[in-house]
Amino acid sequence: DTSHGPILYLEAVSVSFDGFKALNNLSMYIDAGELRCLIGPNGAGKTTLMDVITGKTRPDSGSVFFGQTIDLLQMDEPAIATAGICRKFQKPSVFETLTVFENLELALATNKGVWTTLFAKLNGTQRDRIEQVMETIGLTEHRLHLAGILSHGQKQWLEIGMLLMQEPKVMLVDEPVAGMTHQEVERTAQLLLSLQGERSIIVVEHDMEFVRSIAQHRVTVLHEGSVLTEGTMDEVQNDPRVVQVYLGD
Ligand code: ADP
Repeated sequence: DTSHGPILYLEAVSVSFDGFKALNNLSMYIDAGELRCLIGPNGAGKTTLMDVITGKTRPDSGSVFFGQTIDLLQMDEPAIATAGICRKFQKPSVFETLTVFENLELALATNKGVWTTLFAKLNGTQRDRIEQVMETIGLTEHRLHLAGILSHGQKQWLEIGMLLMQEPKVMLVDEPVAGMTHQEVERTAQLLLSLQGERSIIVVEHDMEFVRSIAQHRVTVLHEGSVLTEGTMDEVQNDPRVVQVYLGD
């Protein structure tokens, strides 16, 4: 449900690279608990937008707020991550020579900033948390398997689990289903749908069938660095301007 009010506000954000405006006066907001899909043709500015939210790229102008009061433009990348905005890049990035359980344990240790807890005795709460996340991502029966032998889809779910160990308030997920089998795509949709509510999720994705399967509230279409339109999947897909920019891609 999106009745919690906005958690992320971007107002008139512009980013230029050598005079080229990758983001051009972009304004949008994300509600707490919302699962938002971000689409748009290549070069529309999707990656740049994610980079701005996570502090990797600093805008030339505009404002970016987390909640009512936290000015993300005053914070560096690690501080933004610590504040609860976490990102998953397209390619899975798990520790292949560690087990599923150990990967989640490592993510927990990283979160607490206490590396020495790695492989030390976990307390009951920490163990429960890992068990819970393993269940959520559907990898409980693979707990003792090395991440390196997991399927591509399973690695992606494990990395989502590692993000969850950090208890994010906002998760940015970049093309999660690229390279997945049809069955894995469906499971990923179910997973993301189950994760909304307790945290906000922004998904950048090109697979329109997948977007349709998870976009319950609002899809944002970027074009030339600005929001072209927002609406349900039906609304945006029937918008002649959206059809136009995709045909021109
Ligand atoms: P998308 O993710 O929607 O494909 P991007 O945000 O990657 O779009 O890119 C938007 C535009 O900005 C593109 O035209 C791209 O070439 C340009 N761009 C992105 N990053 C840089 C950079 N570091 N230097 C120069 N141009 C960039």
